[in-house]
Amino acid sequence: DQQTLQQTLTSLDGRGYASYKQLHGRYDLGRFTLHVDKVQVDPYAPPSLIRISVSREDAALPPELLDDRLGRIAASDFLTRAFAEAAGSGAGSSGHSGAEGIGIGRPGQQVLERTSVVITDEAITARLTVALPAAGRKALGRKAARLLTETLPRLAEDSLLHASLDAEALRAHVTLLRDQEDLRAQLSAAKLVSFAVDGSVLPRRAGDSDLPLGADAVEFTSPETLRRSFTLPSGREVTGMGVPEGVTVIVGGGYHGKSTLLRAIERGVYPHIAGDGREWVITGPTAVSIRAEDGRSAVGVDISPFISGLPSGADTRSFSSTNASGSTSQATNLVEAVEAGARALLIDEDTSATNFMIRDDRMRQLIPADREPITPFVDRVRPLFTKRGVSTVLVAGGSGAFFEVADQVIALQDYQLREVTAQAHRIAADHQATTSRPAASGSAVFTANPARVPRRASLHPAKKTKPARSRGHRMIQYGREDIDLTAVAQLVDPAQTEALAKALDRLAEQSDGERDIPALVAALVERLDAEGLDALSSRPGHPGHLARPRTHEIHAAINRYRGLSLH
Ligand code: ADP
Ligand code: MG
Repeated sequence: DQQTLQQTLTSLDGRGYASYKQLHGRYDLGRFTLHVDKVQVDPYAPPSLIRISVSREDAALPPELLDDRLGRIAASDFLTRAFAEAAGSGAGSSGHSGAEGIGIGRPGQQVLERTSVVITDEAITARLTVALPAAGRKALGRKAARLLTETLPRLAEDSLLHASLDAEALRAHVTLLRDQEDLRAQLSAAKLVSFAVDGSVLPRRAGDSDLPLGADAVEFTSPETLRRSFTLPSGREVTGMGVPEGVTVIVGGGYHGKSTLLRAIERGVYPHIAGDGREWVITGPTAVSIRAEDGRSAVGVDISPFISGLPSGADTRSFSSTNASGSTSQATNLVEAVEAGARALLIDEDTSATNFMIRDDRMRQLIPADREPITPFVDRVRPLFTKRGVSTVLVAGGSGAFFEVADQVIALQDYQLREVTAQAHRIAADHQATTSRPAASGSAVFTANPARVPRRASLHPAKKTKPARSRGHRMIQYGREDIDLTAVAQLVDPAQTEALAKALDRLAEQSDGERDIPALVAALVERLDAEGLDALSSRPGHPGHLARPRTHEIHAAINRYRGLSLH
């Protein structure tokens, strides 16, 4: 109990740091229970893992907020934020609460399924990290005693009990997520890729900030022709712009807000917190951002719809490279996204390889098609939709090449939207009369990809002795290989990256030399749906701070593993 813990810690004061390890165990702290799951071996090692829990009865959260999965995700997110705020861990934890060293992760603008707070029928548990205090290599036992027996229960009082929470804010948090996910579920029946509600604030404060731009922001207003309304479970009615399935091209002068709109759509695959400005930008769950990523590795990807007849003679139906070019990397990203189940592709000219996207008429005249390995995306974007059901939302300010293949063209001017489809089609028709361009073939282009079955041994390299782990926001260390996720734009939280590292280890365990990558990932995702995110970790009581990545990002991680080899 509390006294034992206090006495143990006090007796450790001034002794070697390693003596902290006897803390391992379970303690009663009044209405709370503390578990010390893993004690760091020295002050510079990763922090210790502890858990604090309280019974559902004592926490007294309204049960109707927790009776569905979404309610529990929202409430867990809310409690995590409340705890982080109480601990002052928002800014790297040198807060004034005396909670120095106690961490619960740092949720950003998105509401994600997380391991940091779990809500079961019996209890609410916060999974924490704590840097046990040290002076040099000596344990500061008395300080640790204050931290664990005074500060920690106080933080738990302030952030896990309904009585001390902002009950209205909690209810609103749950209601918002339920509404957002209901809207997302309605998109497919409405044949929309994305929906952006009037009044949204899309621009961010800075390139390195995910916070909304302040007073200077021009609020989003839907063009009348694309305006739609939805009614949500809370009774709220929302009106805004529906981006229809098919091919949508966003045009406009430089700096008029095209990329900002696309980025908001891209992030809209996740629900955002109230006040973010993008909380009512909702995108279908399988929309994937596609960009050029020269230098990436590719293993056995069928990029032949876009690239074939390379001068090297390489077979692009099973394209491998340790250093893909701009165009081949973008083709690889696209084909892999479709393999992973993408129903919409989001492409910005700013991050695309021009030769992958278009080829103009003069170049078509100078270099005959049979000498050019690349069939540009402009020739494939329609069959991609008609044959495979994959929509595209594309930003193109520098070329009108997509006018004739677009189902809708949206123009941005001074951050205001207008639909200009008719004009764009007229221009394309006039232009076509003066140039004779062969209609793109492409009927038999998008056949099913060959199955990509990983070799078990490639996922269990001899040099890999430790579990995979994330380093920073966008790097995973897998054995001796670094998996670089810098170009994976829809990875938004370092806790997702850590979850991806663990996902790779679980995929390696599942791999049987028979199932292909989509089947392996699907089996893992099914397990996460059934057992929760804790299933990723081999330490179920305290899995660390993980946040759920999408299926697409799991594919993205394994596909970038340089050690991958296929049957
Ligand atoms: P484009 O892709 O058309 O060149 P960007 O989307 O990059 O333009 O936007 C250019 C600048 O305008 C950025 O600094 C962005 O933050 C800002 N911006 C974009 N949309 C808005 C808006 N609705 N209100 C205010 N500023 C905006
Ligand atoms: Mg741009």
